[in-house]
Amino acid sequence: MTRLLLLATGGTIAGRAAEATQLNAYTAGVMAGDELLAALPQLQGLADITVVQIANVDSADLLFGHWRALVGRIRDAFAADPELAGVVITHGTNTLEETAWLLQLLIDDPRPVVLVGAMRPATALSADGPLNLFQGVQVALSPEAHGHGVLVVMDGQIHGAQRVTKVATQGVGAFASPGSGPLGWVDDVGVHLPVNAADRFCFFADLSLPEHWPQVAIVHGCVEPPGFQITALLQAGVDGLVFTGTGAGQLSRSERQALEEWQGPLPLMLRSNRCGRGPVHDREDDAELGLLAAADLNPPKARVLLLLALIAGLDRDDLAGLLSASHR
Ligand code: ASP
Repeated sequence: MTRLLLLATGGTIAGRAAEATQLNAYTAGVMAGDELLAALPQLQGLADITVVQIANVDSADLLFGHWRALVGRIRDAFAADPELAGVVITHGTNTLEETAWLLQLLIDDPRPVVLVGAMRPATALSADGPLNLFQGVQVALSPEAHGHGVLVVMDGQIHGAQRVTKVATQGVGAFASPGSGPLGWVDDVGVHLPVNAADRFCFFADLSLPEHWPQVAIVHGCVEPPGFQITALLQAGVDGLVFTGTGAGQLSRSERQALEEWQGPLPLMLRSNRCGRGPVHDREDDAELGLLAAADLNPPKARVLLLLALIAGLDRDDLAGLLSASHR
């Protein structure tokens, strides 16, 4: 039978509440991956699924060590088993898009890696986890998904790792790919994806992940941000900064001033935006302030790219090259 690897990390999909009507008061990351699988007899006979529990946490509590373990498991499994059809990951929805993008940048294999989560705990009336997991497996087993990179399957939609983002705090349709829409759909008829996969950007296929990761902070733009915020981060020795700029990635005068007045070396810095849709382009004074436009990456995804760039020892020019290659 076809072999599949299921990596469980926790989240609401593995969450439990005391009552079936409790949609908010529940504990995430309670059920093991084996239990999620056992609750889905419909998967029996579809594939021989090996379950590995990487963590069982709310995804806000994931650590770089969990990312390292996920990457190591997937790379090893693909290298060891040419017959392995793909990988499915159960994950909390809050940071799912970060993990998806991280894996996209690190896993160089045409076989599908599919992340699924749930907006309602496993105990809820109309829990969405079982169908999302079933459909995630369906996508991971499908030839149609080959070459599309890391995918996210939620509510019957198939999203690409670069664009997908959580756009709602509640409701099963909480994921979107702003600007482009989902890559495709999955239903009982099959997996519907474009025949020709777009280019996959796996910039760090050979990168080994260290035990200790660089520190990259995100600074959120707003009216009159506290002037000391950026200086405090620079003084603390942060390795990278991502700005969630206003509008098309704009920094306030006081934020720019903090960078201008900083006497030490500047860290690698990316300008993203808080609008949620649309690109951020280079500005004339970016270079002198040490900034780079994050193109269409949202702030957490810009941070993931920056983390890996720092681990790989890239400089600002190298990073600019990656950004322009990934911007379609
Ligand atoms: N608290 C959850 C998490 O682990 C939310 C979810 O999974 O929907 O991200």
